[in-house]
Amino acid sequence: MKRKLAAGNWKMNGTNASLGELQSLTTAHPDPRVDILICPPATLIVQAAALTADSPLMIGGQDCHSAPSGAHTGDISAPMLADAGATAVLLGHSERRENHNETSDLVAEKALAAWSAGLTAVICLGETLAQREAAQTLDVIATQLDTSLPDGATGTNTVIAYEPVWAIGTGLTPSTAQIAEVHDFLRARLADRLGAAQANAIRLLYGGSVKPANADEIFATSNVDGALVGGASLKSADFSPIISALE
Ligand code: PEP
Repeated sequence: MKRKLAAGNWKMNGTNASLGELQSLTTAHPDPRVDILICPPATLIVQAAALTADSPLMIGGQDCHSAPSGAHTGDISAPMLADAGATAVLLGHSERRENHNETSDLVAEKALAAWSAGLTAVICLGETLAQREAAQTLDVIATQLDTSLPDGATGTNTVIAYEPVWAIGTGLTPSTAQIAEVHDFLRARLADRLGAAQANAIRLLYGGSVKPANADEIFATSNVDGALVGGASLKSADFSPIISALE
């Protein structure tokens, strides 16, 4: 049985003082029935990984370069993330796609780099509000999935996060019918490409304004295997009930 995944994306938030939140999470969930991943800013990965080394909590990066090393000022490579103690990396988050002009082709290159370094690639995709209103959601999702996901994806090396851009940090969420439509579509499209067994092994997360108050409803939705949580992952008091809702 595949384990569900509660993933937290701290984005550009957090200093050493925030590490106490990880301590609180590990204390509250010493033996969780789901996987828990926190992606702090890169400056905290070494400390976060050391602090959680004896716990089931996993630490991830928020992005990586597609090359293992080289003249790329300000960038971080996948082997560096692994060396710092990360076991996963978010790729293609809409804030990266939008603010850094990341294309799905580049996301695929980064995913290959992540796999080579032994990291799980959490590949993010999702439509904008304009695309949803133009009834383009499934076309956008199909193109992003097909292009961002390299050949060789498995349930171990890949997680897919569906994050409608208009739901991220806005307090808006799609209806559960809308979430189910996209997640069912993603599962079917993965099955066409990888076969049913491999497609079923890949966890499909929903992300976008997940809170303790809406977690139960979202987690009961078809083909939702967990969540990628931004704002509500910053405080253990908010993230802990989301983890519990998934268990
Ligand atoms: C995210 O950034 O991936 C996200 C889902 O953010 P939020 O939960 O704050 O909407």
